[in-house]
Amino acid sequence: MLGFQLTPEQVEIQKKAREFALKEILPVAWYYDAVDDTPMAVLRKAWESGVMNADIPKEYGGRGLGLVDSVIITEELAAACAGLATSIFDNSLGMEPLRLSTNVDLKKKYFPDLARNFKLICFATSEPTMGSDVSGIRCLAQRDGEDYILNGTKYWITNGGLADYMSIFATVAPEKKHEGICAFIVEKNWKGVSIGRRIPKLGQRGSNTVGIRLTDVRVPKENVLAPPGEGFVLAMKTFARTRPSIGAFAVGAARSAMEFAIDYAKRRRAFGSKIADFQAIQHKIADMYQKVETARLLVWKAAWEADQGMDPTIAASVSTRYATEIAFDIASEALQIFAGYGYTRMFPIEKILRDCRLFRIYEGTSEVQRLILSGYALGAYTPVMPALEDLPVHLDKDTIHLEPGTTAWRCRICGHVHYGVEAPEECPYCFFPKSAFKKV
Ligand SMILES: Cc1cc2nc3c(=O)[nH]c(=O)nc-3n(C[C@H](O)[C@H](O)[C@H](O)COP(=O)(O)OP(=O)(O)OC[C@H]3O[C@@H](n4cnc5c(N)ncnc54)[C@H](O)[C@@H]3O)c2cc1C
Repeated sequence: MLGFQLTPEQVEIQKKAREFALKEILPVAWYYDAVDDTPMAVLRKAWESGVMNADIPKEYGGRGLGLVDSVIITEELAAACAGLATSIFDNSLGMEPLRLSTNVDLKKKYFPDLARNFKLICFATSEPTMGSDVSGIRCLAQRDGEDYILNGTKYWITNGGLADYMSIFATVAPEKKHEGICAFIVEKNWKGVSIGRRIPKLGQRGSNTVGIRLTDVRVPKENVLAPPGEGFVLAMKTFARTRPSIGAFAVGAARSAMEFAIDYAKRRRAFGSKIADFQAIQHKIADMYQKVETARLLVWKAAWEADQGMDPTIAASVSTRYATEIAFDIASEALQIFAGYGYTRMFPIEKILRDCRLFRIYEGTSEVQRLILSGYALGAYTPVMPALEDLPVHLDKDTIHLEPGTTAWRCRICGHVHYGVEAPEECPYCFFPKSAFKKV
C-alpha cells in the first residue's frame, strides 16, 4: 500500500525543525556566509533541540529516528541555510559507518557519548588526489601488533576543524584497491592528528571544510570500524543511506528559492503589471513547483526504502541526481525572476545559487550518480519486455491468424519478420543470409 501522508509524529518533527530553522539559522545565515565561519553556538543549539543526531539508535541513548524523519528535518534546515544544515547533518554522516559497523563495542563506546554530550564526528574518505574513486585511497594503515598506524592526508572534510571524532577510511595497500580499504574511528586529540586551514569556498561557507593530516597516528584495535577488505563496502553502504539527505538539502534550498521568487514576482511590476501576471514568469514558477514536488517524492522514497531495510542504493542515486540538479536550475531561474536584484548580495538568491552548486559535487558527483544508474540499468535491472529478437510482432492483419505450421522468423539484423515453415534463404531487406533469422 502506498501512503504519502506524514504521521502525526512526523508532522511534529517537521514543525520543530522548521521552527528551529526559522529562529536559529535563518537570521544568522548570511552573516556566517559573509565572514566564512561556522557558528558553534548554532551547532550546539541544534544538538540541544534534537535536530542533530536524531538518528542515534535508541539502545545507545538516541532518539532512534528513521531516515524519512531525518530527511524531513534536513529539508527544513537546508531551506534556511544549506551550509549550516551541512554542518548540522555532518554528525549523521560521520556516525553512519559506526551504525553500519559490526563492532558493537565501538558503538557502545561512542554512541552514548555522542548522544549525551555535544560532540562532533566527521567523515573522511576524500583526499587531495581522490574523491570519486574511493578505491584510490592512499592514506596508509599499517598493522603494528594489534593496532594500526595511520599516515596520510584526508581533504575536504566537513566539520574536520571542529570534530572531536573522525570516521577515517584508509588502506593497508593502495595497490589492492577495494580489497585494501579499512576504516577507523580516530579522535582529534590523538598524537599525530593535525588540522589544516579552513578551505575558502564558493558557497556553503557556514560549513567548516578542512584537510586533516595523520602522522603516525596509532589506532587501537578496538577502534576498527571495518577491517581491510570491508571498508569499501562500508563506505558505499554509508553513501546509500546518506545520499537521500543530500537530496533533502537540495529540496530545502530549491523550495526557498522558489518561495522567494514567488514573493518577488507578486510585488515587482513591469509594463504596468505585476511580473507574476506574465505567462513567462508563471511557467517558470510552475516548473519550479513541479520539480520541488518531484524531488521530494524521490527523496522520501529513497529514505523509505532504507527504513524498510531494503538496499536504497539505486533510489538514493535517482533522488540525489534529480534533486541536486533541479535545485541549481531552480535557484538559477529564481535569480532570473529577480533579474538585477537577484545578482546582488542584498537578496537571498545569489547565496542559495552558490550553496546549491555544491550538491552536485559532494557525496558523489552528478557523473558518479549517472555511473551508478547506468550500471544498474544496463546490468542488474530486469526488463519486462522480451529481448528484441524474441519480440512477437505481427505486422498486418493477415498474419495475426497464422495457418498451422506457419512460423514467424525475425531477422536479427534489420528486424524483418518472415512467416513460413522455413526462414528465407536471404533477408529481402538487409540481404543477410538465412542464419540471421531466429524463430520467434
Ligand atoms: C565543500 C565540500 C565538502 C566536502 N565534504 C566531504 C566530507 O565531509 N568527507 C569526504 O570524505 N569528502 C568530502 N568532500 C569531497 C567530495 O566528496 C568530493 O569532492 C567528490 O566526491 C568529488 O571528488 P573530487 O573533488 O576529487 O573530484 P574527482 O573525483 O577528481 O572528479 C573530477 C571530475 O571527474 C568526474 N569523474 C570522476 N570519475 C568519473 C567517472 N568514472 N566517470 C565520469 N566522470 C568521472 C567527476 O564527476 C568530476 O566532474 C567534500 C567536498 C566539498 C567541495
